[in-house]
Amino acid sequence: MPFEIVCNNCGTPLYSGMDIKQANNILKLYNNRCKKCGELLSTKDFILKIEPIEK
Ligand SMILES: [Zn+2]
Repeated sequence: MPFEIVCNNCGTPLYSGMDIKQANNILKLYNNRCKKCGELLSTKDFILKIEPIEK
């Protein structure tokens, strides 16, 4: 199931795809911050949201 990482401050999509590891790498590239507004993105929150979808 594909998923998206969307900044919850400005709504900018930062990643969409199938690979959760790839998504983590993308967030690291941005220092876990939204590339548009600079909002800090929590990787832990994002993983917690994804896990129920994969099961
Ligand atoms: Zn943002």
